[in-house]
Amino acid sequence: MKKYIVLLVCFGLLGFLPREASAERPIPILVYHSLAAYKGSGPGRELFVTPENFEKQMTYLRDHGFTLLTFERWHEREKVSKPIFITFDDGYKNNLNAAAVFQKLTTPQFKPAATIFVISDFTGRPNRLSPVDLHRMAASGYFSIQSHTATHPDLTKTEDYRHELRDSKEKIETITGKPVIALSYPYGNFDKKVVAGTKKYYRFGITTTPELFTEKGSKDEHYYLPRIYVKNSTTLDEFAEIVEGR
Ligand SMILES: [Zn+2]
Repeated sequence: MKKYIVLLVCFGLLGFLPREASAERPIPILVYHSLAAYKGSGPGRELFVTPENFEKQMTYLRDHGFTLLTFERWHEREKVSKPIFITFDDGYKNNLNAAAVFQKLTTPQFKPAATIFVISDFTGRPNRLSPVDLHRMAASGYFSIQSHTATHPDLTKTEDYRHELRDSKEKIETITGKPVIALSYPYGNFDKKVVAGTKKYYRFGITTTPELFTEKGSKDEHYYLPRIYVKNSTTLDEFAEIVEGR
């Protein structure tokens, strides 16, 4: 009988407790824009993170036991070690720099992954990811290509959900051959009507409310997912504080 209880306690410690602990841990969802050195001057600077800094940040995640998830794997967040979501908004061509970093850092234990939110009507433009880029990125297994609408309007001020929400989803799915289930709201702007429209086509709505995600079980909480900016000026110490929730 005593042996049986000891065994039960061991199983409890191995299986049940870590899962409970990870369920309570707030989840960081990070947002990047451009992944390149900033060559201009002015207020756009903070939207650029150099590939060197990005590599240091991803190396930190690898060496501190994080699991990089995309929204298709949302349900795994309570099972994996230190879940985190890396996202890029606007679909800039320089996001291709992430692929090289991810390949370099891949190990049997660490599989990098990120979500790229593209503006579907901009995919042919010179400084944006092309349909060929997007198809290749999706096929690489490192990237999930999701929607940032068709033309990047303030969704609280447009009526054209058909084009911005539905057509955008369909166009990206045609390009990648994979489901589009998440939308990031341009400018982080949303209201109840936007959320209701988003629910018709997507399982997740992503904001720029600057905090970690803590599950509360509230209605529609998957349509109000918060995100924290990683900026040009973010130091590695600050990055560590963000992702560790300190
Ligand atoms: Zn945007």
